[in-house]
Amino acid sequence: MNIILLGAPFSGKGTMARKIVSDFDFVQISTGDLFRENIKNGTKLGKLAKSFMDKGELVPDEITIGMLKNRLEEKDCDRGIILDGFPRTISQAEALENMAKIDAVINLEVPFDEIRRRALGRRTCSKCGEIYNTATYKKNTCQKCGSPLFQRDDDNLESVNNRLEVYEKQTAPLINFYADRLFVVKNKKDPEETYKPVKNFLKGRI
Ligand code: AMP
Repeated sequence: MNIILLGAPFSGKGTMARKIVSDFDFVQISTGDLFRENIKNGTKLGKLAKSFMDKGELVPDEITIGMLKNRLEEKDCDRGIILDGFPRTISQAEALENMAKIDAVINLEVPFDEIRRRALGRRTCSKCGEIYNTATYKKNTCQKCGSPLFQRDDDNLESVNNRLEVYEKQTAPLINFYADRLFVVKNKKDPEETYKPVKNFLKGRI
């Protein structure tokens, strides 16, 4: 089974994907993480992507689609995938139709004022990728693995505003594109509560 996690930036796609992976045998694929890995390793692709990412713009489709296609050709994807952060445009979704059969699309609905509130407080673990927020977590090391937390280069006000605008214009239309496979999840205060219906939905499908 292959699924997509849809939602605005800061809607909790990464956190949701990690919860799903800990309960079910899926491979999580985040195009944002793939780009960040390339940036860390100093690849040509990473250098190209960084110039777009820092401004909160989308990396051009041909680059993103090519990178995802390569990842989907790896053997572990046979187990079933969760796509987090891809597709973000209609043309990416159209390209994906020829690369993988998508069985379900989970749309995380979070009000925009809540997203803005979360945006600047996000901290990410430099090792395991666990996500925290300064509003609820005061330490600067990860509770799970003890590694230092950091603020992503693109989690600044200008970039956040840009990403939300890009989401509205280019990614939100995907909700209609996937209307026949859509499972809508409303955000709750407690991430475990948000996850419960998703877990039940997946249990019923697998
Ligand atoms: P994320 O970690 O999903 O928030 O992605 C961080 C940044 O990576 C985005 O703001 C984009 O610049 C870039 N990115 C990630 N996924 C995509 C995608 N599917 N299409 C274009 N750009 C992407």
